[in-house]
Amino acid sequence: MEDLKKTQEFEFKAEMKQLLHLIVHSLYTHPEVFLRELISNSSDALNKLRFKKLTESNILDADEKLKITISLDKENSIFSIEDNGIGMSKDELINQIGTVASSGTLAFLKKVNEAKQNNLDANFIGQFGVGFYSVFMVTDEVTIETRNYELDSTAYCWKSSGQNSYTIEEIEKSNRGTKISFKLKDEFKDFAEEWKVKSIINKYSNFVDFPIYIADQEVNKVNALWQKKKDDISEDELNEFYKYISNDYDNPLGHLVLNIEGNINFKSIIFIPKNAPQSLFTDTREKTLQLYTNRVFIQDDAKELLPEYLRFVKGVIDTEDLPLNVSRELTQSSPAMTKIKNIITGKILGLLEEWADKDNDKYIEFFKNFSTLFKTGLNSDFANQSRIVELMRYESTNTNPGEFTSLAGYLSRMKADQKEIYYLSGQTRELVEKNPNLEYFKKEDIEVLLLTDPADIFTIPYLRDYKEKPIKSIDKADIDFTNKKSDSAHINEELKNTVINKFKEVLGDKVEDVVESSRLVDSPVTLVVGKSGLDAQMEKMLQMMDKNFSGSKRILEVNTNHKLIENIAKLIEKNNDSDLINSSINQLYEGALLIEGYMKDPISFISRMNEFMTKATEIN
Ligand code: ADP
Repeated sequence: MEDLKKTQEFEFKAEMKQLLHLIVHSLYTHPEVFLRELISNSSDALNKLRFKKLTESNILDADEKLKITISLDKENSIFSIEDNGIGMSKDELINQIGTVASSGTLAFLKKVNEAKQNNLDANFIGQFGVGFYSVFMVTDEVTIETRNYELDSTAYCWKSSGQNSYTIEEIEKSNRGTKISFKLKDEFKDFAEEWKVKSIINKYSNFVDFPIYIADQEVNKVNALWQKKKDDISEDELNEFYKYISNDYDNPLGHLVLNIEGNINFKSIIFIPKNAPQSLFTDTREKTLQLYTNRVFIQDDAKELLPEYLRFVKGVIDTEDLPLNVSRELTQSSPAMTKIKNIITGKILGLLEEWADKDNDKYIEFFKNFSTLFKTGLNSDFANQSRIVELMRYESTNTNPGEFTSLAGYLSRMKADQKEIYYLSGQTRELVEKNPNLEYFKKEDIEVLLLTDPADIFTIPYLRDYKEKPIKSIDKADIDFTNKKSDSAHINEELKNTVINKFKEVLGDKVEDVVESSRLVDSPVTLVVGKSGLDAQMEKMLQMMDKNFSGSKRILEVNTNHKLIENIAKLIEKNNDSDLINSSINQLYEGALLIEGYMKDPISFISRMNEFMTKATEIN
């Protein structure tokens, strides 16, 4: 009788009733979220106790090891979670558990109404400060037994079926902390299975830095490594941790351990892997940075924390500056996230700069694996473009195949009177090196960057200049040839004009123009892109992606010093055999197309060539 007297019944406030009604009667995706919420509450309670121990002496079970214990009774579908954290007084049971800040409740109700869907994502329950109530997704009645941390405290039992009311009763409980237990609804009875609970803990709470026990077995082996001092973290621990979070079998290429304090606070460990995954661009399931707040897992792949072009890194970031149960929507709009992103971006670039500076082999290993993605930073992260540019590496006419130069290196080798930086793109280095447009540059010993990575071809147009030197594709028409030493002319000015005009007449609107070439040495003709056109290789790729994309017309450049052109000029002068002139001009044009990979009509090209050979092999 005496016991009963001590049991008090409390009515939930109207809006709480509404909230509970919704939680109980909605259908959820991710119902396992309740476990994360309970563990995170326990972890909070343990953190608070840890702090109390620093400042107070009146503490019950002061020497007990801090831990979380989960007990599962499969037979009866009973789940319980117990911690020896700070515990709750009666007032706290009423004010913290029994009442939810009305702003939180209202925001939650509003959200549910807006969503107007019967399948709610349980992940969003937590963000309104109603995390505890997520247990009502999986059960009809909850019991909380709790004893607050003070030596002379009283223990209480709180019970509710999540309907209209709850009860509080005084109980005997010798140890400090909180135990929450409930019988699982039938459809959720597998949450009383050890494997199931372990796998959820593995996913969500592995870095909670209190041990979690199930049946006397510690199940979260990995502790919050990033909370350790940088100097106390061993290489081995880092490697193990990396393998654990990345599922990589190899050690990482490098890492960053960050402890940022100031107007934003976070700790982070970031890894740069050795090997690129199969699909650097397409695999969106690839984990990057995991977000924790106060050691409690929030998100697997916090996209907002990393710019796209750095999505090859792996790691963990843990901040105190976000609410514990942040949702995706919240993180997206949070200024804290933007600040963290900017700092992380700068630190990763800093690490790469350090490698590029002091350990070129390591940097090149990184670059060979990840540059295809990394290069896209040139046209997406303008704030850091000047740093990313310095980290770019290109093959050039000065490097061996497979070796690279930086733009700074190129600049240092430039002759005093060279005003521009040149590049030429193509499918393979071999093909690019044979491109007739390179002849002048070879002869004059002017370095040209040789680009064969599609990522270069798409990004380099965004780099108008480097240290005030324009960057130009040499297959464009407006290259500055003012320094060209003039070769001794073989044909006079008038005849030159005649031959150019004949080319124009024969080719008509197949070309934008025909001009005398300054860039050719060994080849008779070449095609170049007009001033307004795109780089030839870029056009080719755009055409591959979009069948309707019509490339710009080309300018045909004619090398009037070439013997073949000289011969044609003389034929024109004598005006005999105009068929041969026409065929030769067409053949030259189509040959230039062939070099560029644009040959459309190989049949007439070959039959014309056979005609020429027939003539050449005739015995007079
Ligand atoms: P939130 O954790 O967002 O504050 P919850 O509904 O999850 O919201 O919890 C409400 C409050 O109940 C907590 O802030 C805390 O004061 C108290 N509480 C919950 N679980 C525990 C626990 N295991 N030990 C001590 N206090 C707890």
